[in-house]
Order: sequence, then structure tokens, then C-alpha cells
Amino acid sequence: MTEHEHYEAVVVGAGPGGAAAAAALAQNGVETLVLERGVDAGAKNVSGGLLYAEESAPYTIDGLFSDFREEAAERPVTDYYLHNVAGRNVKSFDITDLHEHDTAWSDAVLRRKMDSWLAERVHEKTSETGGGLLTEVRVNGLLRENGEIVGVTCDELDPIRADVIVAADGVNSELARDAGLMDWEEPEEWFQGVKAVVDVPSDVIAERFDVSEGEGAAHLFSGDLFDDVRGGGFLYTNEDSLSIGTVFHLDSLVAEEAEPHELLDNLLTHPLLADWMEGHYDEVEYSAKLVPDSKKVAHPSPHEGRLLLVGDAAGQMQAQGPIIKGMNHAVSAGALAGEAFAEASMRGTPERAGELYERKLNDEGVMKKLRPAGYKVTSALGEHEAVTNVVDSVLTSGVGRRAVRLLGSQLESLYSSPYLSQIVPDTRTPYVTLPTVIAEELGERVEGTSDVEPKSLLDRIGDLTYDTDVGNPHIELQDNSVEASGAAVTACPVSAKDFGGGCYREETVKTNGSEEKLISLDTQPCVECGTCAIVADTEWEHPRGGKGVEFREG
Ligand SMILES: Cc1cc2nc3c(=O)[nH]c(=O)nc-3n(C[C@H](O)[C@H](O)[C@H](O)COP(=O)(O)OP(=O)(O)OC[C@H]3O[C@@H](n4cnc5c(N)ncnc54)[C@H](O)[C@@H]3O)c2cc1C
Ligand code: SF4
Repeated sequence: MTEHEHYEAVVVGAGPGGAAAAAALAQNGVETLVLERGVDAGAKNVSGGLLYAEESAPYTIDGLFSDFREEAAERPVTDYYLHNVAGRNVKSFDITDLHEHDTAWSDAVLRRKMDSWLAERVHEKTSETGGGLLTEVRVNGLLRENGEIVGVTCDELDPIRADVIVAADGVNSELARDAGLMDWEEPEEWFQGVKAVVDVPSDVIAERFDVSEGEGAAHLFSGDLFDDVRGGGFLYTNEDSLSIGTVFHLDSLVAEEAEPHELLDNLLTHPLLADWMEGHYDEVEYSAKLVPDSKKVAHPSPHEGRLLLVGDAAGQMQAQGPIIKGMNHAVSAGALAGEAFAEASMRGTPERAGELYERKLNDEGVMKKLRPAGYKVTSALGEHEAVTNVVDSVLTSGVGRRAVRLLGSQLESLYSSPYLSQIVPDTRTPYVTLPTVIAEELGERVEGTSDVEPKSLLDRIGDLTYDTDVGNPHIELQDNSVEASGAAVTACPVSAKDFGGGCYREETVKTNGSEEKLISLDTQPCVECGTCAIVADTEWEHPRGGKGVEFREG
């Protein structure tokens, strides 16, 4: 047997899930090594992002890391609105009650700042028990002996053995895939999020969003401003910037051949945002990332041998109606995984940590939130094209419109119902048809014109920082036919049909007098969102430690 370095615990990834796992392990005296591939924790990460502390959660980030809110967050979000949009008509609902349901607090965060602050605390805590946190190390697989998982292998280090491995490596978890626990097959199971961070001085935010110090606003958008693509937009106030973005079902983006950056621009330039964005438009970062849909992929048994999956790696990201909660569940799951290993070890049965972790996820109510029982019923009954067509034609008929008018202000209460938000079906109706009809029937016309001039894709890519691993592309096209990989040309957030500078391009190749369309890939502008791992035929891995894109905001 080869002698490899050994730690009691190895945590892969220093996002909220990994930070929480490491904190729980270290607090229980477990020798813990954390490995993070970014130059800094957060350099690879993107969130909208509102971080919730739920009253019912077993763990919250400020419970694990004191001073978190003062040091690492942007603004508490105190006002929460949903805007139904049809052209220039808008009907807005105040859904702060939904936002406050089961919420102790909720803060807007930017991931580079948040994750690097957490990483420092994690390094301090884990150093006390003989471990620590290393950045610029990419774990590239699981170390196995006699078929059993016993550790991890890395690009930059020799293999490392561990009694437990917590995979907190995010949405494109290579470890979850290596263990056969998650796959990257079905676009229906994922969302794609795209975001712009726009600099706005703090006093301007206070005035335009009517918030004082210690207050912030969240605005969500749905309706016809994204054509027929299922999903919506968000705008969150940070300390002195805005996070403005979109989250769409990946299958819908592919089916509509929509360009993610154009959908973002539809939001940025809508007249509803004109007053908020008036004057100098200073977009400081463009970013993108896949998001798992927990209703479909949250793994009911996220462990295999010594490997425990937490957070996005286990599909634990809750997107239900107007609620987006991933970071808080990653924190709960990470800490529960750490706690489970510590308890199992104390009982002399460390090999039962996974089983215990699974039980805790259920007992603490985490799984119930991620996979609500009611959704199973609505999806079985409602998620069929024929049903959607019938519902949509009733809604857009005179009868449907009259019903919407009659419901009037009651719709705001319906949209504020935590139960209803859990059972929203993933169809065109709640994302596009219903909000459009609401805006047409109950909305008011927004006057004014936006003076926002969004950046071109070329400028957005040009503003990003890359350390490209020249000659060692982290994605390889396996099949360059349009049928197998053509969807990536539009779905990739840094590629576009009419843009020659992105990752994916469609090219016409002439051979023997005939013409053929083929897809080519250049990974230089890649923002590592993971989309093409699912919609194209690729051999997909993360770049080596420290290589690739580096987000400054995230
Ligand atoms: C546009 C958008 C909007 C969102 N909005 C919200 C929101 O408002 N609220 C919310 O709660 N959630 C939101 N989310 C989801 C949220 O970002 C995720 O659910 C959350 O980040 C998951 O945390 P995690 O710790 O599991 O994974 P991540 O935060 O993805 O962290 C994974 C870490 O692992 C590292 N890593 C990956 N692979 C390796 C490897 N092989 N070796 C070493 N390190 C590795 C990565 O660099 C990263 O630091 C949003 C996501 C997007 C994209
Ligand atoms: S090449 Fe793939 S992983 Fe990279 S940005 Fe495009 S879709 Fe995302």
C-alpha cells in the first residue's frame, strides 16, 4: 500500500457548504484539511445573492462564524417585491411576507468578499486541529483502494487519504460524478444564472430604493420581458453596488435558442429600471453559473462510503416560485455532515457518518424543503405541454382575464403563500403567461426610457480576469456536430450566434464540394458555468488550481 498523507477529514471546496463543514469539523476537534481550487475562496463563485438564516434551520452562517453579518455581508434585505411585466405594463406585488416567512435575517452578499472572509476564519479554526485551508488546489478525483473510497487525488498535490471526504465542490461536482451519485445529463434538472454587478454609490441606492442604512431591497421580475423562456430576473441592493441577473431553466433556454446575455440586457434596459439606473451605467462584472433544481436533483442519500456530498454538489439548491435559497442549505448540510462525522467517530463507527448525515438531513427538515411533497403532485399533473397549452389558453381568454381582474389584490396574498410557492409547476404558465396577463389586466404603464447601454459580450469578456491554462483546455468537444453540441452556441453565456469571440462557434466547413455546419470550441473566454457539460457532448473538467476565470465580485 502506498503511504499517502492522511487527515481525519478533507473538505473539497470553500464555498458556504465547505466553510460550514470545516467549521463544524474543527469545532468537534477533527483534523481537517480544506482544498479550494480558486486563487482565493470566492474567486470562482457566483450567487444572486441573498443569504438567508432560517429560523427552522439547524445551522446558520452567523451561528458558525460570529461577526459574519458585520464583516462579510452587504445589506440586510428588508423589502421584497415581485414585478409582473407585459411590455411597458407592470403590476408590482409586495411579497415581503413570503421573504420573512421562517427568516431570522437575510443579507445580500457578494461571493468574493464573503467567501474569502469565511476562508480566513476556516483556516484559523482548522489550523487549531492540525489542518488548514489551501487554495489553488484542484481535486481531480477520488482515491480508491480495493474499490473503496479512501481519499482524493489532486492536480497539484500527491493523493491524500482521509477518514471522511466532504465534497462541497459546487454545482459541477466532479467528485459527485466520480462516485456515480450525480450526473450532468438532463437540462430539465438545472437552471442557468447570469449576473451583472453595477456600481452605484451607497447614498444613491438609499435615495432611489428608499432604504436607510441597515436596509435593502430585493426586486424580482417575470412576464414577457424574457420572451417565452421560463425563469425570471432579480435586482438586489449591495452596500455600493447592485446585483442584477436572471435565472432560467436550462431546457427552456435551449428550446428557445435564447442568448443569456440578451435576456439580461432585456432586464437592464426595461423602463421599470430606468429611474433606478439613471445616469452613468457602470457594470463592473459579468458572471454566470449553473444552479441545480433541488426539486428534481436533491440527492435523497448523498453519500457513498467515506464521501459525503453537501450543497450544490448534492443538488441542495431550492428554487421555488420567487424563493431562491441555496447558500443557506449548503451551510446547514455542510455543518450537519461535519457533525455527523464527529458523532459517528465518537461512537467508534466513522464509517457510518454518511448514514447519520442522511438521517440528520431528514430529521432537521432540510430534505422536506428541498423536495416538497406538494410539488410531486403538481409536477405529475401539471407539467405536460398539453396541460400547459390548455391552462394558458384559458388564462389568456376573456374568462381567464376576468378571473384575474376579480382576484385583483388577492393575488398579492396568493403570491406570498409559502405553500403555493413550493408547488409552482415548472411550466410557461407561472413564469410567463400568468404574470403577463396580470400585468396586462391590472398593471400600470411605466413611462420613461432607459438610458442604460449594456456592455457588449466582447467588453464583458474583456473586463474579466483570466489565467488561461494555455495548451491544456479544461473542456474538450467530443462530438462537434450541430446535433450533439450546437445548443451550446446560444446557451453558453459567453458565446452567441452572431459573435465570433466566444467559446462556442458554428462554422460552415466545405469538403468535397459539399458544405457542413460544425461546432468549434475555444475555452479562453470560459467563465466555467458548467452549461456545456450538459447541453453539449464534452469531456468537462474544472481548470487546474488557480487557472481560468477569476471573479472579483461573484
Ligand atoms: C445567478 C445565481 C443566483 C443565485 N442566487 C442565490 C440567492 O439569492 N440565494 C442563495 O442562497 N443562493 C443563490 N444561488 C445559489 C448559490 O450560489 C449556491 O446554491 C451556493 O453557492 C452553493 O454553495 P456550495 O458551497 O454548495 O457551492 P459553491 O458556492 O459553488 O462552492 C463550491 C466551491 O468548491 C470549489 N471547487 C469546485 N470544484 C473543486 C475542485 N475540484 N477542487 C477544489 N475546489 C473545488 C469552488 O471553487 C467553490 O469555491 C444563486 C446562484 C446563481 C448562479
Ligand atoms: S464554455 Fe461551457 S462552461 Fe465555459 S462559459 Fe461556455 S457554457 Fe459555460
